Amino acid sequence: MTLAQTVEALRRTYDSGITKPLPWRFAQLAALRRMLTERSAEFEDALLADLGKNPTESQIAELGFVVGEIDHVVRHLRRWLRPRRVSVPGALLPARASVVREPLGVVLVIAPWNYPVQLLLAPVVGALAAGNAVLVKPSELAPATSAVMARLIPEYLDPRAVSVVEGGVEETTELLEQRFDHIFYTGNGRVGRIVAAAAVKNLTPVTLELGGKSPVYVDDSVDVDAAAQRIAWGKFMNAGQTCVAPDYILATAAVAERLAGALERAVRALYGDDPATSPDYGRIVNDHQFDRLSGLLDAGTTVTGATADRASHYLAPTVLRDVPRDAPVMREEIFGPILPIVTVSGLDDAISVINGGDKPLALYVFSDSARVRRRILTETSSGAVGFGVPAAHLAVGGLPFGGVGDSGSGAYHGENSLRTFSHEKAVLTKSLKPDTMKLIYPPYTEAKDKFARGLLRKLG
Ligand code: NAD
Repeated sequence: MTLAQTVEALRRTYDSGITKPLPWRFAQLAALRRMLTERSAEFEDALLADLGKNPTESQIAELGFVVGEIDHVVRHLRRWLRPRRVSVPGALLPARASVVREPLGVVLVIAPWNYPVQLLLAPVVGALAAGNAVLVKPSELAPATSAVMARLIPEYLDPRAVSVVEGGVEETTELLEQRFDHIFYTGNGRVGRIVAAAAVKNLTPVTLELGGKSPVYVDDSVDVDAAAQRIAWGKFMNAGQTCVAPDYILATAAVAERLAGALERAVRALYGDDPATSPDYGRIVNDHQFDRLSGLLDAGTTVTGATADRASHYLAPTVLRDVPRDAPVMREEIFGPILPIVTVSGLDDAISVINGGDKPLALYVFSDSARVRRRILTETSSGAVGFGVPAAHLAVGGLPFGGVGDSGSGAYHGENSLRTFSHEKAVLTKSLKPDTMKLIYPPYTEAKDKFARGLLRKLG
């Protein structure tokens, strides 16, 4: 089948109406859950092959994450799909108004390589729950996981309504020439622009889940050792290849001094004296990323790490301090296990560094001061803010997950996925009798004019 025929087949399925009834949606979500539990070993092996991901970490951040998302959606779906009543202005009464969620149609999900299970399937949960047909495109840069998806998805999910297309730039380019009703893209901003430009030709709405530099601010009011432990966990998980990983730290010279030692101890606590031998530490995905990251190591003073082995794609958990603000490592999203500490003079300086860059996907603050937290919250803009913990906001089903500005547009997870993958249809019902509308029909008279002027005030 050509790609165009695959999309046509999905559209025929959608048009046939089979994806709309709730029992079908629940059955798909249950099947997806079974796929993740019955076949978890196949996914774990693939993630180990693609990214050296430890199976426990795969459970936490990939398979278990999606299972949690399914359970959350299944628990609330009926309520989210109930028509939502809204009030009607007095001048239009008697009438009833409500918002009804309807599926969009055929949805395209394009996923990246770094969390190749979570970032492909979590959007699929929302798209199916909302009653759509879905075409998924796994990343070619996580080939083992892509192959498992291509094998298992047709086995578990309704193949009439869910298709997997494997491939890279060529296939995705061809896919983007087709007409979809929504495109959900996770990845870098360069390709995000290509996706958005292709979508605009058909006026297709897009969700862009992008990345960028997510800063961390640490001040002297907190337990620096405890903060370092959390930061190191969020940073070095998946060898730093996490869109919401702490990208760099801002701290005063005194805090930076204490943090440097604390981060070194935290890395040892997580991965031992030699992380190269730790089964819990991941690997860089490919030569290209390895070479890019190796080129960023030469900045400031090395606190720990900076050792690397190209053959095995090992790059040690690395902490750098006294890193100049214009160093190459500060000019692009790091997306690897390198953690620069940049010295600032205080909170004002930190806020101006944050506001001097693109709006981050996430921003993390370690401070016990309510004033500091409030100032960061109101004086900066980011997709999310984590006080005291990085990355974990993703696991809160009620929170929207998405970026702002350069870190993306749109959001998902839980009810926000329903919002993304549905059209919110406005429904107004007004009986023909009594005909209160006749007061505004022509011919216009002085009395009607008076009424209209009063009406405008009431509607306003
Ligand atoms: P990637 O290289 O796997 O690309 C993502 C997808 O885009 C793939 O499916 C790929 O085939 C496709 N693609 C690549 N080039 C294309 C082209 N020219 N035309 C059309 N499609 C193309 O992944 P990546 O972009 O390297 O992922 C890393 C980036 O993604 C980082 O910036 C990271 O912060 C961001 N990210 C964001 C999130 C989020 O949820 N916001 C999650 C993970 C990663």
